[in-house]
Amino acid sequence: MTDVTFESLGVAEPILRALAAENYTTPTPIQTRAIPALMSGKDLLGIAQTGTGKTAAFGIPLLQKLSIGHIPPQPRQAKALILAPTRELAVQIEEALRTYGRHLNLKMTVILGGVNQNTQVKNMAKGVDILVATPGRLLDLVQQKHINLSAVNTFIVDEADRMLDMGFIRDVRKLVAMLPRERQSMLFSATMPDDIVKLTHDMLRQPERIEVAPQGKTADRVEQKMYFVPTQQKRQLLSELLKDVSLNKVIVFTRTKHGANKVAEHLSRTGVVAEAIHGNKSQNARQRALDLFKTGKARVLVATDIAARGIDVDYITHVINFELPNEPESYVHRIGRTARAGTEGIAISFCDASERSYLRDIERIIRMKIELVAHDLPELTAEQRQQQEEPRRPHGHNRGGHGKPGGHKGGGHKPGGRDGLPHGDPHAPAKRNGSRPHWQRGKDKKRESAA
Ligand code: AMP
Repeated sequence: MTDVTFESLGVAEPILRALAAENYTTPTPIQTRAIPALMSGKDLLGIAQTGTGKTAAFGIPLLQKLSIGHIPPQPRQAKALILAPTRELAVQIEEALRTYGRHLNLKMTVILGGVNQNTQVKNMAKGVDILVATPGRLLDLVQQKHINLSAVNTFIVDEADRMLDMGFIRDVRKLVAMLPRERQSMLFSATMPDDIVKLTHDMLRQPERIEVAPQGKTADRVEQKMYFVPTQQKRQLLSELLKDVSLNKVIVFTRTKHGANKVAEHLSRTGVVAEAIHGNKSQNARQRALDLFKTGKARVLVATDIAARGIDVDYITHVINFELPNEPESYVHRIGRTARAGTEGIAISFCDASERSYLRDIERIIRMKIELVAHDLPELTAEQRQQQEEPRRPHGHNRGGHGKPGGHKGGGHKPGGRDGLPHGDPHAPAKRNGSRPHWQRGKDKKRESAA
C-alpha cells in the first residue's frame, strides 16, 4: 500500500503545518476517503463514531474551501454551519477547527443553549465563516433575526443519531428548510436508524457514503470486561479497581444525574479526585469539570450519557460503566471514549441483577459476549443480599443461597435471559471460563431446569 499523507490528499500548506504541530502524521481511514471526496465538492454520508478522526475529515476540506478566495462574511451570516447535539461537542468541534485552521484567517463562533445569548448575538453581528451550533438555540436566534442562514454554502450535521435520541431532529429539519438549496452537505452518524436515513434523503445529494466501522460494531481496540456485582457493592468495587494506578484517566458512566453526583461524592470522600458532569450542571460547571479532567487534575470524570456525548479527551485509559445504559447504542458510544485515534483502551462494566436485560441487548448489538471477570469482594450482609435480590426472584427459589457473593449468582432474574443462570464459581479464574455459563445459553438453560 502506498503511504497516504495529508499532502498527497491535496491539503494546503497552512493546514499541513497545523496538522504537523498536532502530530497528525497519517490520515485516519475516514480522512483518507472523505478529504478527496469533499474537496471535489461532493456531499458525504459518514457512518462513523467519534474517535475515528471524523472532525478533521470534514474540518480540513471545509477550512480549505473557505480559505480559497476568502471574502469576509456579511453581518449576521455564516458561510458554513455545523450542527452538534450537545454543547460539549459543539465547543470541541470549534476548538478542533481553530486548531487546524490556526494559520488561516477565518472567523468562527459557537452558539449553544444554557448560557446567556448576548455574547453569541454579539459574536454573530459581524458574521462568521464557520458557525458551530446546537439546534435549539440556533433556531431561537434565527427566529429572533440575530442570525441569517441564507449564505450557508456548507452544512454539516454531526452525530445525527444522537440528535434523534435527544429529540432535536425536528429542529434540524426546520433548519435544513432555511438553508439555500445550492450547498454542500455532510451528515455523520454512528448508527443509521430509519429517521436518519430519511433525513439523509432530504438533505444530501448523491452523497459519497463512507462507513468506517460497521453499524453498531464496538471499537475493536477496546478491551471489554464485565463484573456481575450487586448494586450495593458497586461503589466498593469501583474503589477497589481504582487502587490500581494504571487506571489513570477514567470516565465512570452512570444512568442518572443523581447517580453521577453520588458516585463522584463517594470517590472524593475516599480520596480520589473526581468531577461529575451532567445536564443539571451549568454550562460553566460542565466545562470546568471537563477541563480539570482533561488536564489530569481530576483522575475520574463521572458522567451521564448525554453530558459525555462527543467528549474528546485524549488518553482516557479506562471507561467504567458503573451502571449499564438502557440503550445499547450508548454502550458503544461510551466505550468509544477510550481507545481513540490508535491508542488502546479498556472498558469495564458493572452489571447488577436488574441490568441483565440491558446486557443482553448490548451483546446483541455488539455481536459478541463480553468477558466476565470475577471479583473478590467480601460477602454481602444478609440485609444487603435481601435488598439486592428482592423484587424479581422467580418461584421464591433460593438460587443465590450458595454462600458466595450474591452478585455473581444473578440473584433475582427475569425468565429467559442470562439472569439467574448458574454462573459457576464467582471466584473462578477471571478469563473465558468465568464467562462460559452466560454465553452458552442452551446448555445453561438445561442446567437451569435441572437445578
Ligand atoms: P474525532 O473522531 O474527530 O473526535 O477525533 C478523535 C481524536 O483523534 C481526536 O483527539 C483527534 O485530535 C485525533 N485525530 C484525528 N485525526 C488524527 C490523525 N490523523 N492523527 C492523529 N490523531 C488524530
